[in-house]
Amino acid sequence: MSESPRDSRYHRLDDATFILPQTAPRKGRKAPPPPLGVRVQSADIEAEVRHPGFHHDGRRTSGAWVVERHDFGVCPICLSTKDLTEEHVPMRALGGRAMTRTCKECNNRLGSLSEAALSALVAGEVVVEAESDALDGFRGVRKATAALRQAPFSPPTMHVTSGDPELLTTIAAGEPLSVRYRLLDPVPSGIAILKYAYLAACVWLREIPYSQEAKSIRAVLMAVRDGQELSEDVRKDVVGLVNSMVLVENPSYDLGPIVLVEPTSTDAGWAFVLGQRLRCPWPFTGLQPTDRRDP
Ligand SMILES: [Zn+2]
Repeated sequence: MSESPRDSRYHRLDDATFILPQTAPRKGRKAPPPPLGVRVQSADIEAEVRHPGFHHDGRRTSGAWVVERHDFGVCPICLSTKDLTEEHVPMRALGGRAMTRTCKECNNRLGSLSEAALSALVAGEVVVEAESDALDGFRGVRKATAALRQAPFSPPTMHVTSGDPELLTTIAAGEPLSVRYRLLDPVPSGIAILKYAYLAACVWLREIPYSQEAKSIRAVLMAVRDGQELSEDVRKDVVGLVNSMVLVENPSYDLGPIVLVEPTSTDAGWAFVLGQRLRCPWPFTGLQPTDRRDP
């Protein structure tokens, strides 16, 4: 993959297979979304969750702890006691259930700024731009939205969900295309992951932690909620968090929305598995301390 000279946020895709929806969407109707894809395979979590000795009759299971709901009487993010509302951890669209309560602001505003991005990330969505001689007569590039999938040792596939009709026809006809794709900005989805993993940790601990790291996480979440710009360092940390997340393929047991997974011989770290889909290493060690104090 080489960077486009025009825009370094784009990647050229030299060896991808396009997959179109089986039936063309009717005019004015959105195509049904593809089933959630797998961005990163995780053999480890599969092995842990499918452990034959697994049983489900208590908080402790083989290799994992099932985390139960807990209320704090304050919002674990901003520590306010006002307007507490049911918070789904992770968000409902990712299999979350009401696991604690947060204040209205932290629930709704932070959610609206980050949840759609996390859904798109989990679906592997990318913005595709394509050019083809078959499309000549029209200037410029054609756009589509696609879900990028890649299994280990295989070329990537792009599952097109919507886009320019002529581009879709050209893809269906198998015409040669020059394709580039742009990954979505990982920061908003990283903020959603940070929020849910932090809330998962609070619920698991049954108390709100006051370590420097926890204070930093709260400060970052409140800054995003209040529309403040994040520093380059914090953005980098958040992107690192997204890169350390693993999507779990085909979870076979319903253990609830929050599971704490113990280190195994093949995987040294603890992790939360959220909604049976997102495996987030815990604790986060990367986040920079900030000077902002809890109110
Ligand atoms: Zn709050």
